[in-house]
Amino acid sequence: MNRLALLLAFALSLLVPNAALAESAVWGKHSKRLELSQFVNYWVESGDVSVEDVRSLPETAWTHNGNDSVSLGYGSEAYWFRVQLSNSLAVEAINFLEIGYPVLDQITFYSASSDGLSQPLVLGDKQPFYDRPVHHRNFIIPMVLAPDETTTILIRVATTSSMQLPLTLWDQDAFYAAEQGRSLFEGIYYGIVLVMILYNLFVFMAVGERNFLYYVGYIAAMPLFLACLHGVAFQFLWPEATWWNDQSIIVFLNLVVFFGGAFSISFINVTRENHPWLNRWTMAMVMIAGMLSAAGLFIPYQHMILPSILVAFVGCSTMLLLSVVRWVKKDPAARYYTVAWVFMLFGGIVLALSKFTMLPRNLLTENATQVGSALGVILLSIALADRLNREKKKAFAAQQRLLREERKARLAQEKSLNIQREANALLEARVQERTRDLEALNEQLLELNAKDPLTNLKNRGHFDKTFQSAVVHAYRFEEMLSLLVLDIDHFKKFNDTYGHLVGDDCLQMVAKCVKDHVTRPQDLAARYGGEEFVVLLPDTPEEGALRVAERIRREIEKTAFRVSGEILHLTVSIGVCSASPARADATKDLFARADSALYAAKEQGRNRVVACSSDSSDDPAMTAALA
Ligand code: GH3
Ligand code: MG
Ligand code: MG
Repeated sequence: MNRLALLLAFALSLLVPNAALAESAVWGKHSKRLELSQFVNYWVESGDVSVEDVRSLPETAWTHNGNDSVSLGYGSEAYWFRVQLSNSLAVEAINFLEIGYPVLDQITFYSASSDGLSQPLVLGDKQPFYDRPVHHRNFIIPMVLAPDETTTILIRVATTSSMQLPLTLWDQDAFYAAEQGRSLFEGIYYGIVLVMILYNLFVFMAVGERNFLYYVGYIAAMPLFLACLHGVAFQFLWPEATWWNDQSIIVFLNLVVFFGGAFSISFINVTRENHPWLNRWTMAMVMIAGMLSAAGLFIPYQHMILPSILVAFVGCSTMLLLSVVRWVKKDPAARYYTVAWVFMLFGGIVLALSKFTMLPRNLLTENATQVGSALGVILLSIALADRLNREKKKAFAAQQRLLREERKARLAQEKSLNIQREANALLEARVQERTRDLEALNEQLLELNAKDPLTNLKNRGHFDKTFQSAVVHAYRFEEMLSLLVLDIDHFKKFNDTYGHLVGDDCLQMVAKCVKDHVTRPQDLAARYGGEEFVVLLPDTPEEGALRVAERIRREIEKTAFRVSGEILHLTVSIGVCSASPARADATKDLFARADSALYAAKEQGRNRVVACSSDSSDDPAMTAALA
C-alpha cells in the first residue's frame, strides 16, 4: 500500500513537474557570488506579448529549470526567464547580475520590486558594445536589491545561437576581485598564443616549411574562435560590427578545422600513399570547412551554425583518429601530436564535467578550453621543432652519405686515371720500341741503299753525297781533300776474253784490294760505275794520296787472280787530285781534274798513278797541292 502511494506520487511528479516552483535565491550576509541557474523559471514566448502579459502568466505556465546550467539548445523561439532574488540583509545589496554567455543576440531585462517595474534594459551582441552599462565581455547589469525585499527579474532572450543563460549574482566588490584573476587568465592565454603565432610565423619565414604556416593558421583561428565565443573579440576587436560578430564565430570555427586538417595531413604524413582513404576523407573535410568558412562571410549565422558544429565535431574526431593511427604506425611526429590533441580535448571534457558539477568550479575548470588549447599549442610547437630537428639530422646524414659517395667516386676516377696513365706509358714505350725498330730497319735500308751489291763497296749515290759534304767540310776548315779515280786497264778485252762472269769475279777482287788499302775511318772507297772505282781521302795531302794510290796499284798489279784454273793479272790506272777547295761546290772541278789525271795515266801507257798538275787546272778557285 505504502509502495503504491509512493509510485503514485512519483507519477504525479512526472506529470506536473512544474508545480514544484523554484524558491527565491537568497542574498545573505556572506554572499559574494550566487549562481542563479537553479532558481530560473522559463517560458517559451508564444504570440505577441508585453512584459505585463508575462508577469500575469499563471505559475503553471513557467517551467522550472532546476539545473546547474540553463541550456535549451537551438531554436527560433524567444524565451522569458524569471528569477526571484530575496535580499535577507537589512541594508541595500549593491550587485552585478552577470549573463556569462556573450553571444546572445537580444536580451531585454526587467526588474520588478515594490517600487514597480523597471525600464527595459536592452542588451545583446546585436547592440554596439559601448551601449552596455558596464564595458565587459559578458553582459553585466548593475542592480541594487532593497533591504529585506524580494525582487523579480524578467529576462527576454531572442537569439540564433544556442539558448544558454548562465546567470550569476555578484557582490560588486567580489566581482572586481574575481575579475582580476579572470583577466589575468585571459591575458596569459592570449599572450601565450600570440607569442606562439609570431614565433612560428617567423620560423615559417626563415625555414619556409608549409607545416609552420598551417600551424600558424590553426593557432590563430583557435583563439580567435574562443575570443568570439567569450566576447573578447567583440569587446576589443570589433565593438561596433554587430553583424560580423555573429558571422566571425562561423568563419573562425571552420578555419580551425580547415587549418587543423591541413596541418594534420602534412605534419603526421597522412599522405595518399600511406593512407589513401583517411587522406581523402580528411581532404574532403578540409575543403568543406574551407567552403563553410567562406560561406560564413555571406550566409546568416542561424543557417551556418549547425553544419559548422557538425564539421567541427567530425573534424576533431578525425584528427584524433589520424593521430592515433599514425602513432600506431610509429610515426615519431604523431606522439606529441596525439598528446596535444588529448590536451585540447581535455579542455572540452573538463568544461563538460564542471558543467555537470562533477568537477569543482574554479578558475582552472572554468577556463579549461583555454588551458587545454594553450597546452596543445605549446606541445604542437615542440612537435614542430622536434620534426625540424629530425629533418635537419636526416639532411645532415644524407649530406654525409653524399660526401662519402663523392669521395668514393673521386677515388674511382683517380684509379681509372692511373690505369689510363699506365696504359698511355705502355703505349708510348711500345711506340718508342717500334720507332727504334723502324729506325734500325731504316738504317739497314739506307745501308743497303748505299751499297753496291756486286763488290760490297759503297755505291755511287752514297759516294756523291759523302763527296759533297767532304768538300764542304774541307772548304770550311781549309783542309786538303784528295780524290782517287781508278779504272781497270783493258777490261773490255778481259771481258771479251773470259766472259762477263769472270769479269765480275775480278771486279770483286779488285774491290777487295782497294778496300784493304783504305784504312782511316773517314776514308771512303766506292764503286763509281762499271770497272771504275773512287777513293775519297779527307784531310789528306797529295803526298799521302799518291802513296795510297801507288800502294793500291802495286797490290793489284802483283795480285794473281785465280779464275777457273787460270791465273790472271790485272792492272789499274789511277788519277789523283788533291786540293783545298776554295768553294763549297767544288765537287765537279775536283772530280774532273782527277778524271783528267786518270786520262793522262791512260795516255801515258796505263798501270800508273798520275796526279793532276796545277797547270792542268784553269780554275783559279782551286788551289792544288802538287808533289
Ligand atoms: P782502257 O784500258 O782504256 O780502260 O780499256 P778498257 O777496255 O778497260 O776500256 P773501258 O774502260 O772503256 O772499258 C769498259 C769495259 O769494262 C766495258 C765492259 O766490258 C767492262 N765492264 C764495265 N762494267 C762491267 C761489269 O760490271 N762487269 C764486267 N765483267 N765488265 C764490265
Ligand atoms: Mg772504263
Ligand atoms: Mg778500263
